[in-house]
Amino acid sequence: MARTVARHTFEEVMVPNYAPSDVIPVRGQGSRLWDQAGKEYIDFAGGIAVTALGHCHPELQQALVSQSTQLWHLSNGWTNEPALQLAADLGELTFADQVFFANSGAEANEAALKLTRKYARDHYNSDKHEIIAFNNAFHGRTLFTVAAGGQPAYSQDYTPLPPGIIHLPFNDLASLEYRISDTTCAVIMELIQGEGGVIPAEPTFVKGVRELCDKYNALLIFDEIQTGMGRTGSLFAYQQHKIIPDILTTAKALGGGFPVAAMLTRKHIADSFTVGSHGSTYGGNPLACAVAGKALELISNPTLLAGVRQRHTLFMDGLQQLNRKIDIFQEIRGEGLLIGCELKAHWQGKARELQRFAEQQGVMVLIAGPDVMRLAPSLIISYPEINRGLKQLAQAMLALKMGY
Ligand SMILES: *Cc1c(COP(=O)(O)O)cnc(C)c1O
Repeated sequence: MARTVARHTFEEVMVPNYAPSDVIPVRGQGSRLWDQAGKEYIDFAGGIAVTALGHCHPELQQALVSQSTQLWHLSNGWTNEPALQLAADLGELTFADQVFFANSGAEANEAALKLTRKYARDHYNSDKHEIIAFNNAFHGRTLFTVAAGGQPAYSQDYTPLPPGIIHLPFNDLASLEYRISDTTCAVIMELIQGEGGVIPAEPTFVKGVRELCDKYNALLIFDEIQTGMGRTGSLFAYQQHKIIPDILTTAKALGGGFPVAAMLTRKHIADSFTVGSHGSTYGGNPLACAVAGKALELISNPTLLAGVRQRHTLFMDGLQQLNRKIDIFQEIRGEGLLIGCELKAHWQGKARELQRFAEQQGVMVLIAGPDVMRLAPSLIISYPEINRGLKQLAQAMLALKMGY
């Protein structure tokens, strides 16, 4: 079965729903990657805010290897120690009493949305089923979550979509106040719209959403799949806003690269998921939970979280300094190590091109839409790696500016 594979193999054997880079990374260590040809890259992309402890972190490796000698999988007909430990730890570190495990962000959101409908039916009536989401939001790719997302390009080819979801402008409290009603069962939002362009929710908006949800007995879901697990400098971003949701979803960095997700909630809400009302074959799998347990232990460390805030300053200062000279970004924004650089009008639509130039220079970055370069590096990336990556990025910015 072993054969030589190269980038062109992708077009032959893979469904063409992605357009991956021309290079194939084969090895990673910390914040560095190497491709098939042995070329080295600094990783500012972090697998889209997933590899929060870098590649192949020795303690995550140890957790995975050690669990792999004990027990891989059971199904939810049996519970397991790593899942129970992880759920208890998540509860201790957050507002939550109880946890549902899934394998991906979309599945955690799917569970959250289903739970709010069931909770409303159990406590009010079936008319209370409307879900409010926001324009430009991203909540995943299942039919329910893509319908909740606020980017019609991702959902319009899959109609009919699940009904009962409406979209409102983000950071616009007046429009929410106008539309929310007793038939609203939930509001779902990101605290920083990640895929939508790294757009932070304004603190007054978050507070206002919480108040309106309380007034109309609607559950508030914070989708912290991208902002959670230390990304913004606290374990979860809601802890900085000091606004507590009814349901929180986390995934991406939860497993540091091993697929795992969780929906966190309070006991009286969790109670609506009675036996048989929802489930997952792999959700809460011992391998995934063992790795996530270790990732949570490392990321919740206050020293690590303080380091995220220090690295934020390094990145922001460095990027602003480069931009004062090269001048292609109109705004550099974000929190912690989720940073968005929006291109000026003259270079709009060219984020992908900048990403390719960056890779040529030896630094991996992300984009968030056509106009924003996004960085989501490891939370423990070293200072020399930050400096080297920024130097390479400067070359890429110059290349874009000069139109090479
Ligand atoms: C990535 C992401 C998702 C979807 O997660 P998957 O693991 O790809 O299903 C949902 N919401 C937000 C905010 C995300 O960033």
